Amino acid sequence: MAIETMEQRITTIARAINEAAGRAGRAPGSVTVVAVCKTATRAAVDEAYAAGLRHFGENRVPDAIAKFAGAPLPADADLHMIGQLQTNKAGKAVGLFQVIESVDRLSLVHELERLGARRERAIPVLLQVNVAGEEQKAGCDPADVDGLLDAIAAARYLDLQGLMTIAPLVADPEEVRPVFRGLRELRDGLRAGRGLALPVLSMGMSNDYPVAIEEGATHVRIGRAIFGS
Ligand SMILES: *Cc1c(COP(=O)(O)O)cnc(C)c1O
Repeated sequence: MAIETMEQRITTIARAINEAAGRAGRAPGSVTVVAVCKTATRAAVDEAYAAGLRHFGENRVPDAIAKFAGAPLPADADLHMIGQLQTNKAGKAVGLFQVIESVDRLSLVHELERLGARRERAIPVLLQVNVAGEEQKAGCDPADVDGLLDAIAAARYLDLQGLMTIAPLVADPEEVRPVFRGLRELRDGLRAGRGLALPVLSMGMSNDYPVAIEEGATHVRIGRAIFGS
């Protein structure tokens, strides 16, 4: 049996993304891959970069420091924080990551605003929402979204780009379609109700990204399908 190279895996993913976008009547190229490298070596990250990927995701600050602090990614690549961010690690995180996708509580909003003010530079963020409910612990309760958006709106140094969610891991990705649809409908409601642009919807992983794209994902966070398990 032929062993697939990383480049072949990335090509396969790109094709599946364009097919899913096509099914949803969306333009090819409207979806960004965030290569989740939390289990990958730095050499594998560099291989993915060489294959054309420009967005990388880590879920733990210490891992990101070990992999990238001494040897930053090229300037045209972005590092995304996708895991729960402890307030006491936020300072390290804003020095390392270009986007914080996992803003989920008021204390973190306030700490990031303080750090952004100190740097005099707005920090790009996503609000992570726990659309799936009990099965997922990460992200804010949908009932807390309005309060968090008020705090983010009042913050001068947070650049709110959109919403993020994690769907539960299930055998049949159709089962989590309502989670993805829920995040898009939440975004649509906030657009209409609060006049927010919220261009980014970060949702979908290796097992379910085509369904997430059909439901409007602009960013898919893919780990295993690129780097193996
Ligand atoms: C690990 C992780 C992913 C990628 O999951 P895969 O199943 O490896 O594609 C995406 N999002 C978050 C928040 C993760 O922690």
